[in-house]
Parts: sequence; C-alpha cells; structure tokens
Amino acid sequence: MSDNIKTVKNATCTFCGCVCDDMELTVDLDAKRITKAKNACVLGRAWFAEHTIQDGPAAMIDGKEVTLEEAIEEAAQVLTSAKFPITYGLSDTTCEAQRQAVAITDFIRGSIDTTTSVCHGPSGLAFQGVGESTMTLGEVKNRADFIMYWGGNPAESHPRHFTRYTVTPKGMFTPNGKKDRTVVLVDVRKTPSTPVADIFLQVKPGKDFELAWAMRALVKGHKVDSSIENETGVSLEVLEDLVQRMKNCNYGVLFMGMGLTMTRGRHFNSGAIMALAADLNEFTHFVAKPVRGHGNVTGADNVVSWQTGYPFGVNFSKGYPRFNPGEFTTVDTLSRCDADAALIIASDPAANFPQAAINHLGSIPVVSFDTKETATSKLAHVAFRTSTYGINTGGTVYRMDDVPITLRPAFESPFPSDEDILTPLRKRVQEIVIGKSKAKGAGAGVTRAASPVK
Ligand code: SF4
Repeated sequence: MSDNIKTVKNATCTFCGCVCDDMELTVDLDAKRITKAKNACVLGRAWFAEHTIQDGPAAMIDGKEVTLEEAIEEAAQVLTSAKFPITYGLSDTTCEAQRQAVAITDFIRGSIDTTTSVCHGPSGLAFQGVGESTMTLGEVKNRADFIMYWGGNPAESHPRHFTRYTVTPKGMFTPNGKKDRTVVLVDVRKTPSTPVADIFLQVKPGKDFELAWAMRALVKGHKVDSSIENETGVSLEVLEDLVQRMKNCNYGVLFMGMGLTMTRGRHFNSGAIMALAADLNEFTHFVAKPVRGHGNVTGADNVVSWQTGYPFGVNFSKGYPRFNPGEFTTVDTLSRCDADAALIIASDPAANFPQAAINHLGSIPVVSFDTKETATSKLAHVAFRTSTYGINTGGTVYRMDDVPITLRPAFESPFPSDEDILTPLRKRVQEIVIGKSKAKGAGAGVTRAASPVK
C-alpha cells in the first residue's frame, strides 16, 4: 500500500437498494482502489474491492477505439435514424444520468424501460391499481413493532436490512431492539433469513395470493374455512393468531420480495399485500413496501415517473408518454423483434434476457454504457466505458424507501460518467431531431421534451 491514502467518511454503497450511507472508505490514491470499507456487509465489501480502474478505451465503434466525440456522433445518428428505438437499464446510474436518458428517448420517440420491468414491475402495476400505504426506513427503525417479510431472503440479498432498520437496531419507540418487535417471514422454503423470524409461515409455491386473501378476509371478520391449510400450507389457527397480532401491533410493516412478483399471481400478489396493509389501517398503522435490488432502481422509477407519469415500460411514439407493460417493456420489444436500435445504460441484458430477446439484440445497432466489458458491450455497435457511480462519480440516488441520497465519490476515474456522455448525446440528438423537423416544415414531427433538461 502506498502512503497516498485518504479516508472518505459517510460514503455510500450503491450495490443494493439499502444504499447504506455510513461507509468509511480507505482509498489508496496511487493504486486507485479502495482497500477497506468499514461498515460494509460482505456484498458491499466485494462491490468496493472489485471496482478498480481497468485499462481500455472510453469509446469504441465495432470494437475499434474512437474518440468520445466520434462515438457520440455515431450514437446520435443510430438513435435518430431508428423507427422503434428503445432505452433500457438505468438502475445502476445516477438520477442525473437517468434524466438525460428519458429526454433522449422522448426526442427520438422511443420506448424507455428499466430493470424494474424484470423485478418489481408487478408491484409498480399494483401501486397504480391499489395505491400505496408507505413510509421511510427511518420510521420503520424507530416505530415498527411488527415486521413481515414476504417472498424475500434479505439475509443474503440485503444483509444490512435487518441490522440497520428492521430487527436489531434500537429505535425511538423500540428501545430494546429485537425484543420490542415481532418478526415474521413468509416463504416457500427455509432460507438463511428464517432463523431471524419469530414466526415462519411456509406457504405452498404459487399460493401467496390465496394466503394474503385469506388474511384479508380474517382482518375484515369474515369466516375462513379450515381447508385453507390444504390450499396454502398454513393452518387456520396459525393465520387467526397472526392476524390478531397484526391488528394489535402499534406499527406494522409488510416487506414484499421478488418471490411475490416473479411467481404465479405477480401483480395480483403485490396488490393483495398492499390491500392487506390498507385493510389493517382500520385497526392500527400499517405500511407495505417492496425490497428493491439494484442501488438506484428506485431512482429510475422516480425519474421516469416525474417525467412521464409512469415508472417503466413507457413509449413516446405518439409524441406523448404511454404506459403499457407487456407491449413497451424491453423483453417484449426485443422478443417480438419490434426494436430496431437500443440504448442500454448500466445493464447487461445480453447476459440475462430470454434467448429470443438476446438474439434480436444481437441483430440491431446497440449503444451501450458500462463500467466494464459485458456481454452487451461486446455486441454493441457503439460502446462507452464509464466510471462507477458512488465510487468515482457523484450525484443522487434513491434508497428503496424513496429517500434521495447524495453520493460521495472516493477517487477519480479516467473514464467519464454516464451523465458526462448522455448530456452531449442528448444535445446532439435534439439538434438532429429539430433539424429534420425544420426540413420537413415547421412543427412537423417536433417531439415534446420530457423535461426542461439543461
Ligand atoms: S446492505 Fe447493500 S448497500 Fe448496505 S453495505 Fe450491504 S450491499 Fe451495500
């Protein structure tokens, strides 16, 4: 280790949706790497350790190094020439970069979608249908005495969720930590999170909706048949006891995991949980919230919603935003071979989408933004290498409870940030679109700007 060391206090880990902002980072400025991340969990430590500066060009066209200006011009030409361009990813970059991406998609009359469509998209749909009784994680820490996780395994996916907010911390109205709380887990099998729970309900796979609906009936005082045990795997006695505890608590929280959204029932499951929280407000204070994965996926939902009115799966082809998951979501636009150009930001769909979608992605011009080489950047026509948000780049991210947090970067990268490239790309796209519109005659084809971006 060199002598050129600095410490960054209250830095933020952007690996998962907890967005822990109490990191103390030790940075070796000569080696340009973080050597210690105090307070980080095992996932956070790995995130900070693996983000070192790697060699390679900042911009490539068809695998050959080019200047940033050349790559931006080519990307602008590709996106403005397409008939059905799509923008996808966005959950691992800053809100400032997300904002530029929405404006670009608006100018080119494309579809914008985020990784929400393949994780908590069904919860996003349920919000629109049912409404959301919500909170911040600070409120949970200080007030909640009944916590229920449904369809998730935070011990492995969000290791500090239990210790910062829900199980062990001492809160204003929960001064004895875990002793003041009842923790319940609902899942189809035991996981490393199960030992934390006071009560564990093992629901039959695909029966979450039935279980939540039976609980709604009991909350409302309706009779539930004992055959519910055959249906869901949970006995009526256990459910009656649980519902009494829920009605009698002071502040209850239902955390929704992807075990609800990516299984049979999907948005009906999330909707049932939100409706259960709403029902319980007849008796006590109850809230429901999804546990989000990527570091700024909540920011992506917020930014796309501010600017379009909808959180993901939005299309601008008519000159105004339309929301239709299943039609404008990226897996669908690719699998149906609708998209004829793609702007992929901080995501690797070529590694994890269905094969039909990957095949089509490989057949159209792709503009990619990533901090490292990925399956998507390898097939991209224009590939930008960018710096890592939170480690090299400042800006704003949203924690999973919609609280915005300002990043404190640790050291500089030779690569530009996503926003550094998206801003001139948006300006060039705007110029080309307005130029084409003027050539056709005043007003023809002029698209609205989603937001007054600078
Ligand atoms: S819980 Fe998530 S945000 Fe917090 S340190 Fe671990 S990986 Fe990072």
